[in-house]
Amino acid sequence: MRKLASVQTVNAVEAIANADAIEKVRVLGWWVVVKKGDFQVGDKVVYCEIDSLLPERPEFEFLRPSCYKPAQIDSLGVTTLPAGFRIKTIKLRGQVSQGICFPLSIAAADTPLDESADLTDRLGVLKWEPPVPVGMRGKVKGEFPGFLPKTDETRVQVLESVLNRHRGRLFYVTEKLDGTSFTAFLREGEFGVCSRNMWMDETDETNLLVQVARGLRIEEKLRSARMKLGFDPAIQGELIGPGVRKNKYALKAHALRVFNVLNLNSYKLIDHEEMSDFTTSFGFESVPQLGTMILDHTVDELVAYSAGVSALNPEIQREGVVFRPLAEEYDEEIGGRLSFKAINPKFLLKYDD
Ligand code: ATP
Ligand code: MN
Repeated sequence: MRKLASVQTVNAVEAIANADAIEKVRVLGWWVVVKKGDFQVGDKVVYCEIDSLLPERPEFEFLRPSCYKPAQIDSLGVTTLPAGFRIKTIKLRGQVSQGICFPLSIAAADTPLDESADLTDRLGVLKWEPPVPVGMRGKVKGEFPGFLPKTDETRVQVLESVLNRHRGRLFYVTEKLDGTSFTAFLREGEFGVCSRNMWMDETDETNLLVQVARGLRIEEKLRSARMKLGFDPAIQGELIGPGVRKNKYALKAHALRVFNVLNLNSYKLIDHEEMSDFTTSFGFESVPQLGTMILDHTVDELVAYSAGVSALNPEIQREGVVFRPLAEEYDEEIGGRLSFKAINPKFLLKYDD
């Protein structure tokens, strides 16, 4: 789970060109613009990452003019996300600022304040998510199946020590697409379709995921893979196109861009080369492949690298990039597969609303 609010130490303070009243401080691998003199290197702070939704409490009221978000209420009148103050990527005097720092005094007296202590729940911080569009709802069959991993990627800004440990190793890079997560599987003869968090009812034709699965003949493709390869397969990818996240790529039809292939019998993610063979052999498209690179970069360098136009539409900035080793491996610090993302700040400044 992402730690949205935590105790962290300021690890650098730097001036911002042409700015007297503000400066930037570094917390983890994030840069945050603050009032000059408020924080020194070595200071412990409460740091809230971008996407934090801070509760309507007196200590956060100063954020109301710039950050207020009303409650999200679903069609049945149920509040799915309360009102609060949303922290997002901003730019001040040409400097990108991600997150917000508070003195430790905003935490209640009995709060544990050891390094990296997770204060998300204690401070009532929630994760801000944009409202779920209508076509994405649909009938569900149940919870996300336990025999599949949920798709997720950790942000490079919290992985400085992971970067250092893997320095000098070869990684492949793909473009991170801004759509919606899609999983399809064939298990013991049964075909299923899942959204990011739910197993969808594959007979509900009002659901976009189900429509796309049919349109792209995903079940047939998985059946032919099953026949040829002899294991129960699953694919995970990003669904993009009309009606999804404002169709930034301006596609005329829906596309599914695969980033994971799994063998459900061994419960294993397939390595990069085999995954490419799989997608080409069975008629799937992968996420844009941007090549390989030897990882010898700082967090800042990888964030800078993430900026660039999309391979799918050079008119727009890409959302970011995802880094993975050629052979899948587990990383203890990540608590899952070795894989992480760098999100393009230019994309966040433009689209993250
Ligand atoms: P956070 O974890 O930072 O709070 P989040 O959980 O909303 O954010 P995303 O920023 O959407 O996650 O990033 C993870 C998602 O990115 C995956 O679930 C997957 O659907 C999607 N994705 C898009 N392109 C790729 C890609 N090339 N490789 C891996 N995942 C990708
Ligand atoms: Mn996540």
